[in-house]
Amino acid sequence: MIAIYPGSFDPITLGHLDIIERGCQLFEQVIVVVFRNPNKKPLFTLQQRTEQIRQSTQHLPNVEVDCFDGLTVTYAHMRQAKVLLRGLRAVSDFEMELQMAHTNKTLSDDIETVFLATSTEHSFLSSSVVKEIARFGGSVGHLVPQPVALDIHKCYAKTLAGENPTPTVDPKTERFMERQIE
Ligand code: ADP
Repeated sequence: MIAIYPGSFDPITLGHLDIIERGCQLFEQVIVVVFRNPNKKPLFTLQQRTEQIRQSTQHLPNVEVDCFDGLTVTYAHMRQAKVLLRGLRAVSDFEMELQMAHTNKTLSDDIETVFLATSTEHSFLSSSVVKEIARFGGSVGHLVPQPVALDIHKCYAKTLAGENPTPTVDPKTERFMERQIE
């Protein structure tokens, strides 16, 4: 059975990778698909994110990486996939994920959403947290795959040098970071 793992992956973290690795044990093929999210201003382009995931999943023979600008169910139909794989970190993820699963079900009744609970050590981890740490010059090597760590440090080094506009800060992340500093 083919499973699609859709997301923004801006950038892919070790939490995402954990879901991909575990998905590979359950499904014959996992297609990781990078989607453009019109509600988020990304740090990396679709192509950069796709390449980062390719480099980070080279050890997994049944993973394919792609990008798509459209509905997840449209992509799933194109690839004859019947499963959408999603990760759940905390109760806070649940409401949005459930809403999305119901919405996708109304769009396409033959596609099921399967949730994997995150491993405890990754339950706090998000792409936004990674960007915040890197933005303030912290090391993210223990939070993201190695190729991504290099990219993100390069990117923020440019930002600090004034070559890039500072990426938008997610208000939720700002509050999280403030709590860490207090
Ligand atoms: P989206 O914009 O679709 O939410 P994300 O890249 O933020 O894209 O997340 C893609 C999927 O990966 C979502 O199901 C999300 O809950 C899951 N996810 C994100 N971070 C983690 C993590 N640390 N552990 C497990 N799953 C995660």
